[in-house]
Amino acid sequence: MAQILDGNQIRDQIKAECRPRVERLVQTKGRPPGLAVILVGENPASQVYVRSKTRTGDELGIYNETLTPPASSTTEDLLELVGTLNRRPEIDGILVQLPLPPHVDTARVLLAVTPEKDVDGFHPCNIGNLATARPGPRPCTPAGIMEMLHRNRIPVAGKRAVVIGRSDIVGKPMALLLLHENATVTICHSKTTDLPGVCREADILVAAIGRPAMVTRDFIKPGATVIDVGINRIEDRAEAVKLLRGDAASMARFDKAGRILVGDVHPLDVAEVAGADTPVPGGVGPLTIAMLMLNTIAACERA
Ligand code: NAP
Repeated sequence: MAQILDGNQIRDQIKAECRPRVERLVQTKGRPPGLAVILVGENPASQVYVRSKTRTGDELGIYNETLTPPASSTTEDLLELVGTLNRRPEIDGILVQLPLPPHVDTARVLLAVTPEKDVDGFHPCNIGNLATARPGPRPCTPAGIMEMLHRNRIPVAGKRAVVIGRSDIVGKPMALLLLHENATVTICHSKTTDLPGVCREADILVAAIGRPAMVTRDFIKPGATVIDVGINRIEDRAEAVKLLRGDAASMARFDKAGRILVGDVHPLDVAEVAGADTPVPGGVGPLTIAMLMLNTIAACERA
């Protein structure tokens, strides 16, 4: 059976390391780090994500406020709000919770966040800093995955790494972070030919696709480290039975909750073939919020 890479445990280590840094900032600057979250409209999934971010901020003594403009807000309204937050000295980090309503120009709103307060690491300036290996905030999910690899002493230098997915928030920054640590990196996407064959070359395989249980045993080199970024909520029992091949333990969880979270990697196959893998839930997910807190603290330290 593969070693399970426990994201909750690493999240707790990172949170414990955050606390003295926050205390030091309170002593030296006379204020804690400050995070502003913009949550537009009433998307229930976004509300859940934002609540866990603010709860973690509260736990760590990070000042945080959530601004909730209505779904009818225009691009101009949001640009004005971001501008106000850019000018407030007690706010070190600004997070725009995605997705924004379809009528809003998301790229313009994200671009308006000053790079110094861009704790998501999405601003083109910070993508440039990442591409050229200069200091700056790194996108939280890939940064969390690097912490997961380091803290489990999984070697990266000289290894073959394959990233499935080329999004700006996960796939591309993930590939750059692995490259900067001297992995030999391949990025795959929906047009890649012989995807399983390319993936089977990987010592480190990162799946950031958004397709439940797509990565099956034929994608995985025996002994590889497999990182599952996907979070797919399955609410249809027949679909769950098909995806999870009727696995009794998984179906018992489904029946208890009426739904189940499935990653992009097949949980039964990976457990049998990989050397180490991240569970869903409890793998990559918990680290994303911890890295957001670290980015906010670092922004305050730099300010
Ligand atoms: P995204 O923007 O939709 O990107 C998905 C990528 O997967 C695209 O590059 C796409 O290729 C590729 N892809 C789709 N179908 C494919 C196929 N059949 N074969 C090969 N590649 C395929 O998604 P994302 O934002 O990167 O997120 C990916 C997953 O991670 C989602 O499940 C999301 O919920 C999850 N996620 C989790 C966290 C966390 O904290 N754990 C954070 C962020 C995201 P093309 O570019 O060719 O279309």
